[in-house]
Amino acid sequence: MAGQSQEQSLREELTCAICYELFSDPVMLECMHHFCRACIQGYWGRCPRVASCPQCRREFSSRTFRPHYLVSGVVEKVRKCSSEDHKRKMQKHLENALQARQREMENIVQMKHTAEEDICSLTKASGELNSKIRAEFERLHQILEEKERVVLMELAKEEEQLLLRLRGDIMQLEEGISELRENIEHIQEILNKTEDSLLLEVESMAIRPPVRVRAQPSLDIECHRERYSGPLQYIFWRQMLQSIHPAPAPLTFDPESAHPNLILSKDLTAVTESDRRQPVCSSPKRFQQCVNVLGSETFDSGSHYWEVWVGSKTKWDLGVAAESVDRAAKVKLCPENGYWALRLRNGTEYWATATPWVRLAPRSCLRKVGVLLDCREGKVAFYNAEDMTHLFTFHQAAARRFCPFFSTCFSDGKLNVEPMRICHLTL
Ligand SMILES: [Zn+2]
Ligand SMILES: [Zn+2]
Repeated sequence: MAGQSQEQSLREELTCAICYELFSDPVMLECMHHFCRACIQGYWGRCPRVASCPQCRREFSSRTFRPHYLVSGVVEKVRKCSSEDHKRKMQKHLENALQARQREMENIVQMKHTAEEDICSLTKASGELNSKIRAEFERLHQILEEKERVVLMELAKEEEQLLLRLRGDIMQLEEGISELRENIEHIQEILNKTEDSLLLEVESMAIRPPVRVRAQPSLDIECHRERYSGPLQYIFWRQMLQSIHPAPAPLTFDPESAHPNLILSKDLTAVTESDRRQPVCSSPKRFQQCVNVLGSETFDSGSHYWEVWVGSKTKWDLGVAAESVDRAAKVKLCPENGYWALRLRNGTEYWATATPWVRLAPRSCLRKVGVLLDCREGKVAFYNAEDMTHLFTFHQAAARRFCPFFSTCFSDGKLNVEPMRICHLTL
């Protein structure tokens, strides 16, 4: 409103007192009053006497005026600003600005919404993880508590049996003592009699036979102690390992699947690559192009965990393959081709064979890699088996059957000769 009234008063200031329009070609008289050039000339033309100002009536000796460029400029500006065209332009400009701000607003509201959704997802995921971790520990606690209960029960039972035996021994010994005491007294009596009688009778007198006490082996307390001391944590830890889920998969290599250049150890847990082909029977299961080999066991349900020693090898691939992978062709390692794998190249570059490949940056060099396959969730996860840090997880892995997958890769000169091994988990 203030803006409007200011504009109104400016318009009044710039209005000619003769034609009541905005000045057109304004001129200033000596009295400092302004009029349109044509208006003042017309006014003076119509009055034959001395020229005067129509506003203040001051009379002038000559009919002179001066053009006023400053006022002229201001008038032009006001005229232009009040034109319809200008108004439309300004309106358009404001509308555009409004729309831009509205779009910005929508964006920011959307971003806020996304952040709020993220908070929900995070809270939900953390909650689920929290329950999962609790459940896992609960299971470990249960196993440990059960072990503790069993071993304490065994200890108590053994103590009870030993006590029973020892108490029995004591009873027997006490019986022997009292019998012996009577015996001693009896002999003593006879002995006393001999002083004032002949010893002739002694031979015929009944001397009870000596007391027989069954000799018991003495209690081996050290043996008892040893059974329940020792490295208890190791003992229980080893027992606990049998309760771990998923149980470590006792894998071996499947020789029938091995590329002819691969040499497997006798126990089928180590593989090296040779520059010469081995005499092998031909099999549709055998890899023809890539120096690959699969595990002897295949999986279609449950979850499974195994560890692979890669030591100081400079090149390797390992993970999980669909049983149906094309073994005759040379194929790119990717989930679309049935491979969910990790690979090492050039001694230090670790990659997950996702599409596209993902470069990994483990905190330390990988010497032993843990592979977790969860058939139900379609998940293949990799860990540094030396400290169990997580490396990468594939989701939506789908196959009728999954096989553990290994590749020594072709020798990198002499650098890559170290065999790749399947580790059988022991404590
Ligand atoms: Zn005028
Ligand atoms: Zn005047």
